[in-house]
Amino acid sequence: SESIAGVDQVVVARLLERERARFLQAHPSCVAEARRSAAHWLNGVPMHWMTDWSLPVPVVVQSAQGAVLQDIDQHSYADFCLGDTGAMFGHSPPAVADVVREQAAHGFTCMLPSHATARAGELLAARFGLPFWQMTQTATDANRAVVRWARALTDRNKILVFDGCYHGTLEDTLVRLESGRVVTRPGQVGQVADFASHARVVEFNDIAALERELAHGDVACVLAEPVMTNAGMVLPTESFWSAARALCDRHGTLLAIDETHTLSSGPGGHARALGLRCDFFIAGKAIAGGVPCAVYGFTAELSDRMTTFLANKPSGHSGMGTTLAANALATSALTACLEKVMTPAAYEHMNTLSGRLTGGLRQLIAKHRLPWHVVNVGARSELCFSATPVRTARESLDANAPALERALHLFLLNRGVLITPFHNMMLISPATTAAQVDALLSGIESFLSELLP
Ligand code: PMP
Repeated sequence: SESIAGVDQVVVARLLERERARFLQAHPSCVAEARRSAAHWLNGVPMHWMTDWSLPVPVVVQSAQGAVLQDIDQHSYADFCLGDTGAMFGHSPPAVADVVREQAAHGFTCMLPSHATARAGELLAARFGLPFWQMTQTATDANRAVVRWARALTDRNKILVFDGCYHGTLEDTLVRLESGRVVTRPGQVGQVADFASHARVVEFNDIAALERELAHGDVACVLAEPVMTNAGMVLPTESFWSAARALCDRHGTLLAIDETHTLSSGPGGHARALGLRCDFFIAGKAIAGGVPCAVYGFTAELSDRMTTFLANKPSGHSGMGTTLAANALATSALTACLEKVMTPAAYEHMNTLSGRLTGGLRQLIAKHRLPWHVVNVGARSELCFSATPVRTARESLDANAPALERALHLFLLNRGVLITPFHNMMLISPATTAAQVDALLSGIESFLSELLP
C-alpha cells in the first residue's frame, strides 16, 4: 500500500482506529461532558477550533500546573503543547499566580494606568531594547495596531508578509501567494473585504523577491516572525535578515518583528539574539505568563511621529484598542512574568532540555532511517516529515502527513504526553522535567516500533 513520509498508510489508519477506541474507553467523563456541551456550544466547544485537535471528543481540563495537565478522567499529561505557547513559561507560574491573587482583591479593569504600569514599561524597555510601548489584549490586536500605525506614519497603503505566515486573525495578513499572485487565504468565514489588494506576499528567504516588491515604494511595513513557526518551522538562511533589514531601510519600509512564538528563543526574543534591529516589536500569548496580554514596542523616532500624528489627526475614534487593553490584572501579571519568570536561568533550563529532546529525536530518526528531520530553535522543536530542512512555507506544507500526524498525537496522548495539534511542535517550559522529555521520547519510540516493519 501507499507509503507517506516513509510509513505505510494502511498501518497508520489501523493504528489510528485502535487509538481512537482506546481514547474513548479511557475518557468516559470527557465523553459525558461533550454530550452536555453539544446542547449549547457550537460543535460542542466554546471556541470552534477546539475540535481541530482531531480527538474523538475534546480532552476536558481539570487543572494545569507547571508542565502537567490533568483531565476530568484523572489522566495526567506531560504537556509539550503548553496552550500553543500561551503557557510557554508553565501553567500558572507561581510568581504570576501570586500577583494575580493579590490584584484580584484590588480591581481588574479601570480604563486607567495601574500601580504596576510604569514598572512594566521599564521592564519591557530594558529587556527588548525598544524605548516605547503599548499594551493590547491579544497578539492579533497588537499586530493590528502595528499595521495601522505603519500605514499612518508612512502614508503608504500596502504591507508585506511572507507566504504561509500567521499573525493571528488580523485580516490584512490572511493572504497567500498562489502561482505568483496575492490572494485571500482560503477558508475564512464571511470575509468580504479585499485585503489581497493591500498586501504584497513573497516566499520566506527569497531576498530577490523581497527587493522586487519593496522597490514599488508602497510598502508601509514588513510584518514577519524572525523564524516562521506557523508552517512547520522554517529557519531564515544565514544572511536573510541582514539583507532584509538593509532593503527595508533602502526603501523606507518599517520592519515589524512578531516574537509572539519566538520568545522561546531567549530572554530578549529571537531578533535580539540575532542582532536584528526592528522598528516595531510584537509579543503576546505567554508575555504575561498566560494571563491575556500582548505588547508592542517601537523606537523613539516612531514614538515622536505617533505623538505628532495623534495631536494633529481629526477627532474621533482611532480604530485601535479594546476596552480591556492594559487592564490592571494583565499589567500586574506582565510585570511579574518579566521580572520573575522569564529569567536567564529559566531560559537555560528550557534550552538544555530542548537540546536533550532534539538529540533524542534525531537518534530515533537515524535508528529507524526515517526521511524525517527535527528543527530546533531555543525551547521550540518541530518534528518534520521531510528528509531535508525546508526554506519556504510551501515546501514545509508540502511535507505534511496529516494521518501520520494525527496517529502520532493520539498515540502519545493515550500514553500521557500532549504535543501541539496541527503540527509536531514540542515546547519546553521552565517547569518541564528531564523525565517528561524522556517519556515523550519513549512514547515516540513505541509508536515507531508499532508502525515500522
Ligand atoms: N503572532 C504569531 C506569530 C502567532 O503565532 C499568533 C497565534 N498563533 C498570533 C500572533 C496571534 O495570537 P493571538 O491568537 O493570541 O491573538
